[in-house]
Amino acid sequence: MNFMRISNNHLVVIAAGFLLIYGCSKNSSSADYPIHPVPFTAVKLTDNFWAPRIKKNATVTIPIAFGYCESTGRVKNFEIAGGLDTGKFQTIYPFDDSDVYKIIEGASFSLQTYPDPKLEAYLDTLIWKIGLAQEDDGYLYTNRTIAEMHGGLGLHNWASINRWELDSILSHELYNLGHLYEAAVAHYQATGKRTLLDIAIKSADLVNRDFGWDREKVYPGHQVIEMGLVKLYRTTGERKYLDLARFFLDVRGPKGQPYNQAQIKPVDQTEAVGHAVRATYMYSGMADIAAIENDDGYLNAITKIWEDIVYSKMYITGGIGATGGNEGFADPFVLPNMSAYCETCASIGDIFTNERLFLLHGQAKYIDILEKTLYNAMLSGVSLSADRFFYPNPLESEGQHERSAWFGCACCPSNIARFVPAIPGYIYAVTGKELYVNLFISNDANIEVGSNMINISQKADFPWDGKVEISVNPEKNEKFDLKIRIPGWAMNEALPGGLYKFKDQNNEPIKILINGKVLENTTSVDGYAIISRNWKSGDRVEIDFPMPVRTVVADERVKEDIDKIAIQRGPVIYCAEWPDNNSGNILNLVVKSDAGFTTEYVPSLLGGAQVIRTSGFQTKKALNGEIEKLNEEALTLIPYALWNNRGAGQMMVWLPVSPLSARPLPAPTIARRSKIRASKMTNAIKAVNDQFEPESSNDHSVSYYHWWPDKDKWEWIEYDFVKPEPISKVMVYWFDDGPEGGCKIPDEWEILYLNGNIWEPVKGKSPYKVTKDSWDSLSFIPVKASAIKIKVKLNKDYSSGIYEWVVE
Ligand SMILES: [Zn+2]
Repeated sequence: MNFMRISNNHLVVIAAGFLLIYGCSKNSSSADYPIHPVPFTAVKLTDNFWAPRIKKNATVTIPIAFGYCESTGRVKNFEIAGGLDTGKFQTIYPFDDSDVYKIIEGASFSLQTYPDPKLEAYLDTLIWKIGLAQEDDGYLYTNRTIAEMHGGLGLHNWASINRWELDSILSHELYNLGHLYEAAVAHYQATGKRTLLDIAIKSADLVNRDFGWDREKVYPGHQVIEMGLVKLYRTTGERKYLDLARFFLDVRGPKGQPYNQAQIKPVDQTEAVGHAVRATYMYSGMADIAAIENDDGYLNAITKIWEDIVYSKMYITGGIGATGGNEGFADPFVLPNMSAYCETCASIGDIFTNERLFLLHGQAKYIDILEKTLYNAMLSGVSLSADRFFYPNPLESEGQHERSAWFGCACCPSNIARFVPAIPGYIYAVTGKELYVNLFISNDANIEVGSNMINISQKADFPWDGKVEISVNPEKNEKFDLKIRIPGWAMNEALPGGLYKFKDQNNEPIKILINGKVLENTTSVDGYAIISRNWKSGDRVEIDFPMPVRTVVADERVKEDIDKIAIQRGPVIYCAEWPDNNSGNILNLVVKSDAGFTTEYVPSLLGGAQVIRTSGFQTKKALNGEIEKLNEEALTLIPYALWNNRGAGQMMVWLPVSPLSARPLPAPTIARRSKIRASKMTNAIKAVNDQFEPESSNDHSVSYYHWWPDKDKWEWIEYDFVKPEPISKVMVYWFDDGPEGGCKIPDEWEILYLNGNIWEPVKGKSPYKVTKDSWDSLSFIPVKASAIKIKVKLNKDYSSGIYEWVVE
């Protein structure tokens, strides 16, 4: 190691990390990204926003995530496959191995900031078990290994009898391995131990023997191995892993499913389609290949795809993947708020992609997206307590959304566990003569620029305040460029491309001072203020980014956001949430467009947060259908990412400015006045009498209730009336997202009413009909009832759902 001249231990570790990531191994080609990230190990956070979150990730998230891996049987799967225990495959999915790998990756990152001998010893044991579960030739996939111990019984139906055969569909054999390789590199860098790395190499050598143009020509059904192999290449210097990564990209498509981006060759793709996590992992792998192999084909493809996402498929929070059916991208400008999918993993994947595009091009717009996603869509994925997680991150809620402690499919918590410790690695980047400052977070870092070691520190109170103080202390006085990112939001650009725009221009200047003097003649290129000078120890740069409250409007093609505004301050997107507003009713609010905003830091709220205050009024639907305006009231907005830390309830990011775009409180109809019960009680039951009518049976902008994953059985919903009511008609609107989703209109339905203590069928004036995309109504001989029940027969292969059930 050539960095021993640095006496400080901390710096030696840093240098080692850097060497490993951008390795100078003699076998590897020197080509890689033209800009190098500064690893998180070189950057010590001293701020009040991220540092406490990273600590909680270490003390809460990682321990509970390993706890769930133990209690759900994920670890036991390795023990059984390794012969330490007996039994069948313990968990639901064949990709459950990947959660263990991802948390090992997170724990390895975490160890570098918070050394913990107990955790390191736990990893040693876990890795030993993984090694035992690996078959002699390197194959590692606990589901198959365990099934083979039972004569093939228990092999997941996503996997084929033959290894790899169904990987392009759902077996996830290569997906697990991609996460294994990433974990192995992280563990090696953190501890210097080769244990997991050797397991990964043995596995990758098998994959290299089995796959190739003259061998198995299967592409990964869920991408990630591409990125994992590139990391393995950088760490070992073995070119074959890089070639294998490229093979897995080149062998993909055409004529496969858009769901996993195999509809055409990746190099020919121009649009973001399908499953958003798969997509972003693939784009990140393509960027790696574009950088290392200087490949214009992949470069052009990801540039066009990036434009497609940012110009037409991204939420104001930075979230991507609008629809749940494919866990992925919808058509351009289709961005429903309440049903927004915005999977936490997709936000993390998009951060990976944008970081790589920045390292390729050095343009600030990529970090603008990264920062937006980081402070909003990604951060929403984890609670303040760090032990509850969102899978989808919607922009609107009736109260049906709530973070969970864990998921059967646990990709999101395990992704949070590994991503959060690495956040300091996104602050800086370097070339031989440039030092990029990309994010503004208080920290102290030691970074090598050319042959000079620069100590740089930031003092900032981001994201609440726009003032940043940067101290630059080079080891020797030398000229280099300090490139300070000027965020789009400070330059009147809400999002590159104009999908979202600030309603008004803000002309407050951005001030940059150097050693107390206003900096003249700064050049600005690609979104960076470039300060080119002979730096000496003690130099100080001060920046003041104005952070007024900004009003954002969406492109008019985003139907859901018409006549609505979003509120942004700095990089933070705001929302209205139930606890801050008297009645708890949020969705019926209309904000006054001329009300003005004030802002205040409230230390006692949500761990300390800058809130925004304005005013609005509630709206209510009358029985005749007219919308009434209620009294004006004060309105407090909180950062979107901090919602749902005080219980489930209503929340809204896009705020109506007209009663016509609001969701008025429902009229006091019979259905509305009833108590609802159902064969399956979930939060979503509120949808059936909320009086929101969908445009079709697959309209994700309106909430619905469903029985998924149940099928082939009778289910029911019941309205209990306060007092017996005369009734003579019902109307029902079915939810149907088939054949891609799991719900279809039911086979049949029936209405019963409670007559005294007896449920009796109503006498319909016409036969029951089951219709998609419109109301089904049934008039019947009038009865006086104390309750009414709808019984629904689910299809043999599909579940069903209901948007609205009206009783007259
Ligand atoms: Zn996920």
